[in-house]
Amino acid sequence: MKLHEFQAKEVFRNAGIPVPEGKTISSWDEAVEAAEGLAGPPWVVKAQVHAGGRGKGGGVQVVYSLEEVKTAAQAILDNPLVTAQTGPEGKKVHQVLVEEGVEIERELYLAMVIDRSRAKPVMIFSQAGGMEIEEVAAKTPELVLEEWVDPASGWMPYQGRRLAYGLDPLPGPEALKGITSVMSALYRTVLSRDCSLAEINPLVITKQGKVMALDAKMDIDDNALFRQKDLKALDDHREKDPLEARAEEHNLNYIRLDGNIGAMVNGAGLAMATMDVIKMAGAEPANFLDVGGGASEEMITRGFEIILADRSVQALLINIFGGILRCDVLARGVLAAAEKTHIHVPLIVRLEGTNVEEGRKILQDSDLEFLVARDMKEAAELITKQVK
Ligand code: GDP
Ligand code: MN
Repeated sequence: MKLHEFQAKEVFRNAGIPVPEGKTISSWDEAVEAAEGLAGPPWVVKAQVHAGGRGKGGGVQVVYSLEEVKTAAQAILDNPLVTAQTGPEGKKVHQVLVEEGVEIERELYLAMVIDRSRAKPVMIFSQAGGMEIEEVAAKTPELVLEEWVDPASGWMPYQGRRLAYGLDPLPGPEALKGITSVMSALYRTVLSRDCSLAEINPLVITKQGKVMALDAKMDIDDNALFRQKDLKALDDHREKDPLEARAEEHNLNYIRLDGNIGAMVNGAGLAMATMDVIKMAGAEPANFLDVGGGASEEMITRGFEIILADRSVQALLINIFGGILRCDVLARGVLAAAEKTHIHVPLIVRLEGTNVEEGRKILQDSDLEFLVARDMKEAAELITKQVK
C-alpha cells in the first residue's frame, strides 16, 4: 500500500526525521489560509498523487506570493497531472500540500528497501539527489552507495558514517550528524512500520546547515497491514485502478495489465503459467486474476464482471484446475455470471480436475457459446486466433 507524501512525512516527523511544516488542502480556496499559517515566502505547492516525477510535470511549484499559492493550487487541482509515471492521460489530483519553502544548499538521495536477493534491508545513499535515481545508477553507478543491514545487529552507526563520509565535498559536522541520524531513524521506521520502501528524494542540506526530508515516498507491505491499522486507515482508494479496487473488495487477486486477453484462473502459479502460454502464443494478457483455491460461485461471478468491465478485453480464457475448487462449482459460477453479465467476447474454457465431467456437462447443456480446449497450449492458441 502506498502512502501520500504528506502521510509519509507525518510518519517521518513522528520518527524524528525533520520535515518542512505544511498543510494539506483539497480545495484551492483553502490555499491562502494554509500558507498564512506557515513560514514564507517562499511556499511550495505540491500535488499529492501516487506518482513520482511531479516536479517536471508542474506538480511541484515554488511560489513567492499568496496570490501565486492560490493560482498554483488551483492549476494543480483543476488539471490532470502528467508525469513520466502517469501515462499521457495523467492523473486527477484530489489534494495539495502547501509547505514552507526551504533554501536548498545540497540535494541528496536516501532510501531503504528490502533486498530480496540477500533477504536483508539495504540503505541506499547518493549525493546525486533530486534526480531520478535509476538514471544516476545507470550513468554514474559510483555515486550510488549501499549498506546492507545484518538482521542480527540491526543498523550500525558505523554504516551511517561510512555512507555519509562518501560525500564529496564533505559537509560540516552538523550536517553529517543530521544525515546519520536520519539514516538511523529511517531504519527504525522501515522496521517498525513494515515498509517495503521508504525513500527521501531529495534529502536536503539547507543553506542554514540543517538536514531535512523535502520529499517522502513510502510503501507498506500489504501483508503487514493487519498490524499497521493506523496506516491502513490512510489508504486512498481514489488512487487505485477502479477495477483493482473492486476486486479487492471481493478478495480476488486481480492485477490489470495492458494486453487484450482476459484470463480467469485459480491459483497464483497457474495464473502465472497461463500468462506465459498466452504470451508464448503471441498474444498479451489483459489481467492477472487468481480467484483462489476455494472460490465460491459468487466470487467467480464477480471475477467475470471485473474482467469484462475492462474495455480492452477482446477474448476470455477460463483456465481452471479443479482441486479444492471443483469444476462443477466453477461451471455454475460461469453460467450465473453469464446470465448477469452479457459476455460480448469469445470464450474459451479449459477445465481439468475434480468433477471435471460434471463441470463440462453443465457448460455443454447450457446456451452459453464457448470453445473447449483440451490443454493449456491449445487454449492459448485458440484464444490468440480469436483476437487476430
Ligand atoms: P518529485 O518531482 O515528485 O520527486 O517531487 P519533489 O518533492 O522531490 O520536488 C521536486 C523538486 O522541487 C525538488 O528536488 C526540489 O528541487 C524542488 N523543491 C521542493 N521543495 C522545495 C523547497 O522548499 N524549496 C525549493 N527551493 N525547492 C524545492
Ligand atoms: Mn522527489
